Amino acid sequence: MYLKSIEVHGFKSFANKIVFDFHNGITGIVGPNGSGKSNVADAVRWVLGEQKVKQLRSSSMQDVIFAGTENRKPQSYAYAAITLDNSDHQLALDYEEVTVARRVYRSGESEYLINGTACRLKDVNELFYDTGIGKEGYSIIGQGQIDKILGGKPEERRELFDEAAGIVKYKRRKQTAQKKLESEEQNLVRVNDILSELG
Ligand code: ATP
Repeated sequence: MYLKSIEVHGFKSFANKIVFDFHNGITGIVGPNGSGKSNVADAVRWVLGEQKVKQLRSSSMQDVIFAGTENRKPQSYAYAAITLDNSDHQLALDYEEVTVARRVYRSGESEYLINGTACRLKDVNELFYDTGIGKEGYSIIGQGQIDKILGGKPEERRELFDEAAGIVKYKRRKQTAQKKLESEEQNLVRVNDILSELG
């Protein structure tokens, strides 16, 4: 699996539709300060479901929408999409190529799409568990992140190893099952209360 392309339209400094195609080997993005290099990585984080505006270096979710310049009107929505080669079927989808997209409107309305089909954020998260690509993954190492990892709590570091070992999806399923169990236990207590009242 590898990243084939990133498309952005109305996302941060990218008013027009732009497609970045990636080929074999290393690709470097160069440009003057403030020209939008980091915005490309932000677009990938955003598509992967980043919900923390701070991680996107913004102050609100609508801030990712192109705000306009002296000569350009603001955009009404931000769109970004990443296309991954999935010929090794690392992603559990029966497609050779997987495109994940996210769009947000000024009204706050937003959507996620996997290969053009609307889906939930949960579906995007689940698609990338244990691949290292998810928003909690280690495929995007931002400025200062290495320091954070080295200086972080052992539990936080453990998360990275869990992701690399491929056990995150099982941990998440266990958490969901435990929550269900807890709520069933609460229900049982209530049933017992009612039974004893009746008895
Ligand atoms: P540096 O080399 O200094 O790290 P960079 O090339 O990584 O810079 P970015 O931080 O990616 O640059 O881009 C910052 C630019 O993006 C700023 O000029 C900022 O005005 C612009 N920008 C961010 N959000 C928006 C937005 N919503 N609308 C328009 N422009 C935006």
